[in-house]
Amino acid sequence: MSLVDSHCHLDAQVFDEDRDAAIQRARDAGVETMVAIGSGDGPPDLSAGIRLAEQYDFIYATVGVHPHDASKADESTWQELTSLAAHPKVIAVAEIGLDYHYDFSPRETQRAVFARQLRISLDSNLPIAIHTREAWADTVALLREHWSGSPNPGGIFHCFSGSPAEAEEALALGFLLSYSGIITFPKAEQLREAVRRTPLDRLLVETDAPYLAPVPWRGKRNEPAYVVETARKVAEVKELSFDEVVEATTSNWKRLCLRTTAKAR
Ligand SMILES: [Zn+2]
Ligand SMILES: [Zn+2]
Repeated sequence: MSLVDSHCHLDAQVFDEDRDAAIQRARDAGVETMVAIGSGDGPPDLSAGIRLAEQYDFIYATVGVHPHDASKADESTWQELTSLAAHPKVIAVAEIGLDYHYDFSPRETQRAVFARQLRISLDSNLPIAIHTREAWADTVALLREHWSGSPNPGGIFHCFSGSPAEAEEALALGFLLSYSGIITFPKAEQLREAVRRTPLDRLLVETDAPYLAPVPWRGKRNEPAYVVETARKVAEVKELSFDEVVEATTSNWKRLCLRTTAKAR
């Protein structure tokens, strides 16, 4: 078995006590690869994911400014981000997008920072992973305006939690949909319907650890080993074997994120 946790925050402080052990538990559970999201606490620190990727050969990193931190970004951020994007272990610009639930940065700033990073993705030929919350229409509008109309390196809607119709819209724009532990929650029937409508070759799984632990760990600290439960639920919902889901999600991730020979290992 060789699962990929396509999105986790291993730099989070809650892992300070047992980070290495949590990473080992994931490996023992069959999680071959982890993607350390590099948005960290925001600018000026843009290397939160890279630090982990340099420590473990099976951990890859992203760089990006989370919408929460959009107001901390300035011109020097973009220079540094562009240069870090060339790091051999960096496989995506992430997580970027819009979050109108918390509104930690003004919406106009969030939109400008999202658009700026779409440009960096295109210039660096790196896929994106999108965070969108209560901002669907604006997210899609910015993608159409700045990204999806031209040849692009592809991308992921991370922790996809939209409606089945939104899933189809994202698929039509060419994205992969990454599902988190939310699909194991009893009330998430609409989201399981989105899983049903997502073709197997367009689907990823993630933990978003330390957040959103799947059942049976719901409410506890999440960690990459638990991505197994999400893959199990995908198999159940799509009436496939667990091995088929593992194989498909891993090859989908590799196709998107390791496709350039420079990054392939
Ligand atoms: Zn997110
Ligand atoms: Zn995240």
